[in-house]
Amino acid sequence: CGIVGYIGNQDAKEILVKGLEKLEYRGYDSSGIALLNDSGLHVYKEQGRIAALREAIDEQEQATVGIGHTRWATHGKPSRRNAHPHLSNSGRFTVVHNGVIENYEELRAQYLLDTPFVSETDTEVIVQLLDKWVNSGLAVEDAFRQLLLEIKGSYAVALLDNQDLETIYVGKNKSPLLIGLGPDFHVIASDAMAMLQVTNQFVELMDEEIVILRQNFKRIQNLNGEVIQRRPFHVKLNA
Ligand code: GLU
Repeated sequence: CGIVGYIGNQDAKEILVKGLEKLEYRGYDSSGIALLNDSGLHVYKEQGRIAALREAIDEQEQATVGIGHTRWATHGKPSRRNAHPHLSNSGRFTVVHNGVIENYEELRAQYLLDTPFVSETDTEVIVQLLDKWVNSGLAVEDAFRQLLLEIKGSYAVALLDNQDLETIYVGKNKSPLLIGLGPDFHVIASDAMAMLQVTNQFVELMDEEIVILRQNFKRIQNLNGEVIQRRPFHVKLNA
């Protein structure tokens, strides 16, 4: 399983799907991508091979920001409905997640008793809770950080807000995640191989860190909100 993301000025869908193909070796039962543009959010997901996802994506779909996922089901059977990305009921937030949210049932019982869930995944609690907190007045960034403070378990997570075409919210704990740097773009991926197609410069994320990622901007923070500086590294190809 793995996650990818892109924000810049190129064709996001092609970069995302290629990235997911590079992550195939990690194993998966379904895959999906979310693309965000002026006409809104466009989600494609399929059970089975990435070739099926590629088939399903509208070739005319133009977007310069998006996230993608290959799933290895832990909560909820492999199916199209349980495939990521997952949306909040309002449609505002979209998430991809690798890992396991161990306390998702507790979080749901504590905060979301009245919220119907679409999927059987642990992941969906992320977007439903975020939507609720943002609705009650929290800034997206603060709600995201607050949420990751409450979550127990492992996550490599990327989130889109359909009211903001310029930001990807990223978080990591006990699942691998790298930020790839380019001229006028940023990418994210579970491993460098997935994004060597576009860059060989990466910044590693550590556990319990979040990143606010824009085309020409990135800010790494810990869950207390302290900003973290970290030098990039180069991946050399021996081929
Ligand atoms: N726990 C999540 C699910 O079952 C994510 C699985 C994964 O890491 O792909 O949907």
